[in-house]
Amino acid sequence: MRQLVTVLGATGSIGKSTLDVLKRHSDQFQVFAITANRQVDVMLKQCLEFQPKYAVMVDESSAKLLREQLKHNASSVEVLSGSQALVDVAKADEVDQVMAAIVGAAGLLPTLAAAQAGKRVLLANKEALVMSGQLFMNAVRDNQAQLLPIDSEHNAIFQSLPLGYGQDTNYKQQISKVLLTASGGPFRGWSVEQLNTVTPAQAVKHPNWSMGQKISVDSASLMNKGLELIEACWLFDLKPSEIEVVVHPESIIHSLVQYIDGSVICQMGNPDMRTPIAYGLSWPERIQSGVEPLNLFEVAQLNFEAPNHQVFPVLNLASQAFEAGGTAPAILNAANEVAVAGFLREQIPFTSISYLIEEALNACTVESASNLDIVLQADSWARQFVEGRIGL
Ligand code: NAD
Ligand code: MG
Repeated sequence: MRQLVTVLGATGSIGKSTLDVLKRHSDQFQVFAITANRQVDVMLKQCLEFQPKYAVMVDESSAKLLREQLKHNASSVEVLSGSQALVDVAKADEVDQVMAAIVGAAGLLPTLAAAQAGKRVLLANKEALVMSGQLFMNAVRDNQAQLLPIDSEHNAIFQSLPLGYGQDTNYKQQISKVLLTASGGPFRGWSVEQLNTVTPAQAVKHPNWSMGQKISVDSASLMNKGLELIEACWLFDLKPSEIEVVVHPESIIHSLVQYIDGSVICQMGNPDMRTPIAYGLSWPERIQSGVEPLNLFEVAQLNFEAPNHQVFPVLNLASQAFEAGGTAPAILNAANEVAVAGFLREQIPFTSISYLIEEALNACTVESASNLDIVLQADSWARQFVEGRIGL
């Protein structure tokens, strides 16, 4: 029987890469639903190619337009709209796997719904886990969901962990440290003065990866690594002090696990998200992903350096937010989302992103994140706070 897959955020960078891998294995996987916010043209093409049962456009008028265009093409794909439809296609009984590839907090409810419904959740949407950490991990455990990391670093850690990881709670005794790699982004080696005047076009031009705009800016500020640090703490039950961020500009080693006997195990490969996506879909087996084999002679050199915390202060802010616990990571995440959007609209300089996050964290009252309402309230408090500071 073919596995039925819902792809949340199908029109994005991860969504498109996921469909590319699924296309190569139509004997094993069938697309059940694809979702997007408002990119009708891309959705139309995807609907015609993959013939899912459902296509969700969150935006009502985009859904109407897609419905008309599908009718014109004599397609039987059913178009749904609104945020509840995202949740419905994530938890539908028929679905085996859900690719969580919506960007930002907007992905939280459907991703959590997939976990609550006991699906295999392929987690690209790190913001969902950062916001709701304990609630999310509890939902996975209580509903026997499978949570497979798609973020390349976490997928690499997952591949490098000892056998028995997940079943054997003592596995951590064998590990001395997890090394989380970072490319350093387009502004590696720059000074704060230089960062003051960078443009959105410069910030989204990542040296190694082709990604959506928000994560590209996060990579430039190192907030992506901050969010990933929190993500790794939840996924692998670690403390920030057990994780070391290593800047590795070539993005060939995707992260490493250091063992107590001196061994260091890592996962390497060309920087192409189809590798972790394929591994998530097929785990514990492996399938073709379409990724070019790594040519070590072409790579020739691998370099490593420590991150510069003075120039990129958000990494420490993320670690502090995780240590503070409760709603602090949700506040960090929401403040970052609003600040990044402000930077992309050229309303604030790049360096204000970290100031605004720090201000939000200083001004907030951290509460215990004991239910989803509290998390969502913290999220909207931080959004309003930062919008107010930007003057929106
Ligand atoms: P993207 O901007 O390319 O795509 C985002 C997708 O989310 C689109 O399909 C869009 O329609 C949808 N979306 C946006 N706002 C929405 C909303 N309000 N409601 C519903 N859907 C909405 O982003 P991306 O680069 O593919 O990243 C997706 C997620 O994966 C992010 O959380 C990112 O951090 C993570 N991730 C991405 C990469 C990468 O290489 N691109 C790597 C690791 C992790
Ligand atoms: Mg990553």
